[in-house]
Amino acid sequence: ISCLDLVNAHLEQITARNTELNVFLSVYNQEAQEKAKTIDEKIKAGKAGKLAGLVVGLKDVISYANHPLQASSKILNGFIAQFSATVVERLLAEDAIIIGRQNCDEFAMGSTNENSAFGITRNAANPNHVPGGSSGASAVAVQANMCQVSLGSDTGGSVRQPAAFCGVYGLKPTYGRISRYGLIAYASSFDCIGIFGKSIDDVALVLEVIAGVDNYDSTASHTPVPAYTQNLQLNEKVKVAYLRESLESEAIQPEIRKAMQEKITFLQKEGHIVEAIDFPLLEYILPTYYILTTAEASSNLSRYDGVRYGFRSEKVEDLDSLYKKTRSEGFGKDVQRRIMLGTFVLSANYYDAYYTKAQKVRRIIKEATDKIFEKFDFWLMPAAPTTAFPIGNFASDPLQMFLADVFTVQANVVGIPGLAVPCGVDKKGLPVGLQILAHHFKEEKLLTFGKYLA
Ligand code: GLN
Repeated sequence: ISCLDLVNAHLEQITARNTELNVFLSVYNQEAQEKAKTIDEKIKAGKAGKLAGLVVGLKDVISYANHPLQASSKILNGFIAQFSATVVERLLAEDAIIIGRQNCDEFAMGSTNENSAFGITRNAANPNHVPGGSSGASAVAVQANMCQVSLGSDTGGSVRQPAAFCGVYGLKPTYGRISRYGLIAYASSFDCIGIFGKSIDDVALVLEVIAGVDNYDSTASHTPVPAYTQNLQLNEKVKVAYLRESLESEAIQPEIRKAMQEKITFLQKEGHIVEAIDFPLLEYILPTYYILTTAEASSNLSRYDGVRYGFRSEKVEDLDSLYKKTRSEGFGKDVQRRIMLGTFVLSANYYDAYYTKAQKVRRIIKEATDKIFEKFDFWLMPAAPTTAFPIGNFASDPLQMFLADVFTVQANVVGIPGLAVPCGVDKKGLPVGLQILAHHFKEEKLLTFGKYLA
C-alpha cells in the first residue's frame, strides 16, 4: 500500500465522520496528498525517513508554520502560525504527513472537550459521551482511524485521560523529554507534549523521533534519547505498586476496579511483585495542581491582549477598554475563571498563603513519590475514576470536573512519565483505561511494561 493510498483512506474516514464527531478543525487534504506522492517517490529511491507515510494529526495548540493555530479559542481567531514547533520539524524531517488540526478544550483547560470555541467533540464509541479532554479530539482521531498518531498536550492528564476514554494508548513523557518550543503555553512547569497511538510501537517510534535536547527550549533535557523501539519485550520480573483505594473505593467505577484486579492477578501469577501502598498526600495533589496551574496560566495568557494576536473587540474606546473587552469577549468562561483564580493566588496579599505554600507542597509530593520509585518500578492506577462522562455532565458544577482529575495530575506535579493503556470496555461499551506511572526518564521501561500488560 502506497503512502497516497494511506492518506486517502484516512481522508475518507475524516469525510465520513468529522461532521458527527467534530474532530478536525482543519484538514490539509491537498497538502497531505502532495506530500504522500513525494514520499512514495522517496521510498522507491530508498531515501525515505523513519516515519515515511505516518499520518499524524496535531492538537490545536501545536504550531505548524503557515497553518491556522487557535488553541480552540475565539481570542486567536484568524491567527496563522509563523513557525513550526520543534516536534513538527522533527516529524516532517522523518517524512511524517500532517493531516490536520484537531479540536480541544480552549487553551487545553478542561477534561471533556466541551470548552471549545468550535463546539464539543464526541466519543466515537458512543456519541452521547465526551471523549475526555483537553486533547479529546486527538484521541478520537486515532480511535476512529482518522489518523494513525496524534500529538496532544498533557498538563494534568490531557493525553492520558482522553486516551483512556477512547480506548487508545496515550503517553505523557517526563517533563522536559520533549521540547515545548511551539506549544501554546498553559502552565509551563507542567506542560508536556504527548503522543496518542493505536499501538505501543507507534508511540515508541514517534517518541524516538521527537524527543531530545533542543536549543529553542532550555527545559528540554540533555538526557540521551534511547532507541525506544529496539527493545519492547519485557524479560525481567518487575515491582509494581498500586493504591489500596483503587480496588476498594466506591468512588471508582466497578469495571475500572475490576480491570485493576485482573491486571494485578495476572502480574502476580507471572511472578512479578505487586504490593498495595498508601499515599496519604493524595488529597493535596489536586489543590496543589489547580493553584499552581491557574497561577501560571494567568501569567501565560496575559499576552492575549487584542494587540498582538487574533481577535480584537470592536467596541473599544481606549487602550484599557481594548484589553478588557477583547479578553471578556475572546476568552471562554472556564478560561476566564482560571485567569481570575490564578491572578488571585498571585496577588500580593495572598501570594504566600497560596502560591508559595503550593510550591512547598509540590516539593513534598515529589519527595514522597520519589520514595515510592526507590522501591517500585511502576505504579498502576486508574486513568480516571470513571469511563467517559455523558455530554453535559459538569455543566452546572465545574468543580466536579476538576475532582475527576485526581489520578492524572500527580505525574505532572512531579514531572514523571505516565502511560494510559486500554483495558476493555464497560457494560455500556465505553472504553476502560488504566494508567502506569514510572520514574523520571524511564519511558523505555514504561512502554515495554505497557506493551506487556495490555
Ligand atoms: N483537566 C486538567 C485541567 O483542566 C488537565 C488539562 C491538561 O492536561 N491540559 O487542567
